[in-house]
Formats: sequence, C-alpha cells, structure tokens
Amino acid sequence: MTIARVLVVGGGLAGMATAIGMRHRSSEAVAVDVAEVSYEPNGTAMGMFHRAADALRELGVYEELAEINTEARASYMQLYGPDGSPLPANFAGPAAADGPDTPIGLVVYRPDLAQVLANAAEKAGARLLPVGLTVAALANTPSGVDVAFTDGSQAHYDLVVGADGIRSTVRQQVFGDRYQPRFVGELSVRWVLESEGIDLATGIHIAPSGTFLFNRPKTGMGYVNCTFPASEKQTLDHEQARTRLEKVFAGFTDPAFAALRDRLGPDADVVCKAFESVWIDEPWYRDRIVVIGDAAHATSAHLG
Ligand SMILES: Cc1cc2nc3c(=O)[nH]c(=O)nc-3n(C[C@H](O)[C@H](O)[C@H](O)COP(=O)(O)OP(=O)(O)OC[C@H]3O[C@@H](n4cnc5c(N)ncnc54)[C@H](O)[C@@H]3O)c2cc1C
Repeated sequence: MTIARVLVVGGGLAGMATAIGMRHRSSEAVAVDVAEVSYEPNGTAMGMFHRAADALRELGVYEELAEINTEARASYMQLYGPDGSPLPANFAGPAAADGPDTPIGLVVYRPDLAQVLANAAEKAGARLLPVGLTVAALANTPSGVDVAFTDGSQAHYDLVVGADGIRSTVRQQVFGDRYQPRFVGELSVRWVLESEGIDLATGIHIAPSGTFLFNRPKTGMGYVNCTFPASEKQTLDHEQARTRLEKVFAGFTDPAFAALRDRLGPDADVVCKAFESVWIDEPWYRDRIVVIGDAAHATSAHLG
C-alpha cells in the first residue's frame, strides 16, 4: 500500500504527535495535513511522566517544553498529611527510590504543549489547515479516502487518521453510534492560580476532607487538581466547584493553606469536568481510516 498523502483530523496531542512522527519517519514524498487545529488559550496542566516523557523526547519537543514548563521530580508524587508533614509514601514509582530529585518527566501547561507541538509539526513539514476547517464527510474508496471539508472543498487521501478526541466525529462516521463516552463516576475540579506567595509543597495533600494534587506547571503558576466521586454524570458550575474546593481546604491545618484559601475568591479560575471513557473493542480502523488517541481509547485520567 502506497501512502503519499495523509490527513490527520484533530490538532491535539495525538494528532500533532502523529503528524510529527510521520514526517520524521517518512520520506519527503509523504504529505501530512492536519485539520481541526485550535489555538484556544484554554486548558489546565497535565503530567507527562516516564513513557510519556520518552515520547516527548522522541518527538524532539522535551527540551523546549522543559524550558517553559516544569521538570517534575520524584518529590512531585510525595504524599503530605493535613498538617503538611510528609507521609511515608510516594507514587513516583521506581524513580522515588533514587531520591526526591530524580526527574520523572514534565508537568506541562496544556496551551504551551499545544503551541509547541503545532510549531514542531509545521517545522517537520506538516501542513496545518486553517483554524475552523474540519471534515464534513469521509468515504473509504478502493484507492483511499474521499474527504469533503466544511468549506465545501474536497480532497483524496491515502490515509485518514481520526485524532479528534473523546467526542470524535471520525469515530462516529466509521463506527456509527456504537461507541459513546461513558461516565466513570468521578468529577475533576481544577484550579489554575497565581502561585507567588503560596508556600505549599508540590505533591499530593491528604486530609479527611479530601485529597488533591498541587504543582507548579511554570514559573508563577500554581495548579490544584482535585477529584470527587459522583453517582451520575453532572457538571458543577463555577461557584459549586469553588465551594467544593473550599470544603476540601478547610480540613488542612498546614499554615500554607491560609494563602491558598485567600486566593480562592469568586474570580478564581476553577473548572469542573466529568471523567469519561471510551474503548473501541475491535480493530481501530476501517480500510484506510484509523482512529487513535482519546477517540479510540480514552481512559480516566488515573488510568491514562
Ligand atoms: C481531567 C483530565 C486530566 C487529565 N490529566 C492527564 C495527565 O495528567 N496526563 C496525561 O497523560 N493525560 C491526562 N489526561 C488525558 C489526556 O488529556 C488525553 O488522553 C489526551 O488529551 C488525548 O489527546 P487526543 O489528541 O487524543 O485528544 P484531545 O486532546 O481531546 O484533542 C482532540 C483534538 O481534536 C480537535 N477537536 C475535537 N473536537 C473538535 C471540535 N468540535 N471542533 C474543533 N476541533 C475539535 C481539537 O483540535 C482537539 O484538540 C487527562 C484527561 C482529563 C479529562
């Protein structure tokens, strides 16, 4: 099978990584287009450790990200009790045995990650299609895939990669309604804050009122990630999410919490999302259309 023209639908982590990888590993003859590129400055932070960090190195973006974001150490996964004292446990895996300063990967601010990956994809020779342009219809043909774009244009590709996230329209076009996101029983509440003056240890803080992760994705930026069980899918509005965090923080006696509580005012940048999963339990392709990333296998953040 000759592949000379590839369309990647979805300009997120999976889509950009695919575009970069294809361009690095193929000859100049393979043209890679990326649709659904977004430069929205929204998003929180994510940890990319161990194998995920290796993948960033393979894509050639680790060093650039390490310069603008934070290199995580084993201490990142240290547990602390309500009064701020370290607990005798660390989730950093084998790296923790080598000491708290052992690097385990990066904590990245998602908009930075998106921008660095987009730049790397362009540098590798992928063509990023205009923002807002996406696929209206796809059809496998004996020689490839016919694609109709939302601006009325049409093109023919040898391969289409659906990397358009958990609510993938490519998955829907290929597999119909069979695979739908399923709520996994937890809500994620996240808060991005100005960290100057916050003297809280990076790590996992545990009290009877709740557990949350605190880190610093970049200079001056703090990040709180807290999860709550829920029996059915729901989202909390901004005030409900903020109040939940207040209740969790109330259970901590570490003096560093006073500054954190003070900063959790009505304008705090708090968001709530439901954790959902999708798993395609058959081959992730149909002829020349393949589905990858969250479109094919979104897990809860704890598993993925
Ligand atoms: C709360 C939470 C925390 C997480 N924390 C971590 C973590 O710490 N570490 C980790 O490794 N993973 C984490 N994950 C999982 C991680 O975010 C996903 O696995 C990853 O983002 C999947 O990448 P993707 O490219 O497949 O999909 P996405 O990142 O969702 O990207 C899909 C892309 O498709 C495009 N797209 C989709 N729909 C549309 C549309 N309607 N219009 C325009 N464009 C569209 C956009 O370009 C979008 O960027 C977390 C997930 C959640 C929900």
